[in-house]
Amino acid sequence: MAKSRYEYVKNFERESILLPETYIVIRVDGRGFHKFSSKYDFEKPNDLCALEVMNSAALKLMETIPNIIMAYGDSDEYSFLLQKRCDLFERREFKLISTFASTITAYYQYYWNQSFPAKPLQPDRLPTFDARTVCYPTKELVKDYFRWRQVDCHINNLYNTTFWSLVKSGLTTQEAENRLIGTLSSDKHEILFKEFGINYNNEPEIYKKGTILVRELDFESDVNTDLSKRQAQRLEKKLKKSEIKKLHCDIIKDEFWDCRPWLFS
Ligand code: ATP
Ligand code: ATP
Ligand code: MG
Ligand code: MG
Ligand code: MG
Ligand code: MG
Repeated sequence: MAKSRYEYVKNFERESILLPETYIVIRVDGRGFHKFSSKYDFEKPNDLCALEVMNSAALKLMETIPNIIMAYGDSDEYSFLLQKRCDLFERREFKLISTFASTITAYYQYYWNQSFPAKPLQPDRLPTFDARTVCYPTKELVKDYFRWRQVDCHINNLYNTTFWSLVKSGLTTQEAENRLIGTLSSDKHEILFKEFGINYNNEPEIYKKGTILVRELDFESDVNTDLSKRQAQRLEKKLKKSEIKKLHCDIIKDEFWDCRPWLFS
């Protein structure tokens, strides 16, 4: 196509190319979900059905983008891990974040409508998501990133479970907040057990640990971090055909990572 005299304005665009040979993590997070969850009457502290809407949206996104090797989510957020050699959108940061934010938004609305036919979305409060990318140069950093998110899930869930038990027992939200100021994790366990007969350890795993979506392979050998081109292509094929598993397990201990070397291939 012939260039117009106006084409020069394109030179004002900026591009940010993410560092090559690093693991890209993209985290999406619901915008204003504190208000969103009260507007649509989420069950507190955890609305299971709303969590499953997030999970379905994330799974669909993962199915459409084979470069996503695993994902972790809780509350209104999800983190997606891309393979080190991923070349999606030539690693252009703005393309990646805008595509992830808009795609998760579209899928979330789609699955919301399926799961909550009695709660139609209102244009004055629609669910939308922001997104950011972070590049990690080593697999240890990637593991610590996901450990950080799971610990965060645990801390928030213990707090929220205790907070909402107090509120449901008759305290105002302010009183419940004051009651929890300065409490340690052990204090919250004790409040739950002594005052409400709740053993926190028996709470559902999905609330305590969040959700892991991971491409599973049935082999553990012949995967290492220095694959030849042919080995890498073969692994790629297997990964494309692999099943995406949904787990609510511990990702803080080494075990999860040690038996999945392909996450870092
Ligand atoms: P921001 O736009 O800065 O992200 P936010 O209001 O979304 O603001 P977050 O820190 O992301 O703040 O917290 C999300 C909030 O959404 C939680 O505090 C929680 O109250 C609510 N929430 C999200 N998912 C659920 C769910 N499945 N069940 C109950 N509450 C939920
Ligand atoms: P990319 O993801 O790179 O943007 P693309 O397929 O969206 O790829 P664009 O350059 O954005 O490519 O072009 C959008 C295309 O969508 C147009 O070529 C046109 O064929 C089609 N299109 C968009 N809106 C309309 C419309 N209202 N009526 C007919 N065709 C449309
Ligand atoms: Mg935020
Ligand atoms: Mg949010
Ligand atoms: Mg959040
Ligand atoms: Mg287009």
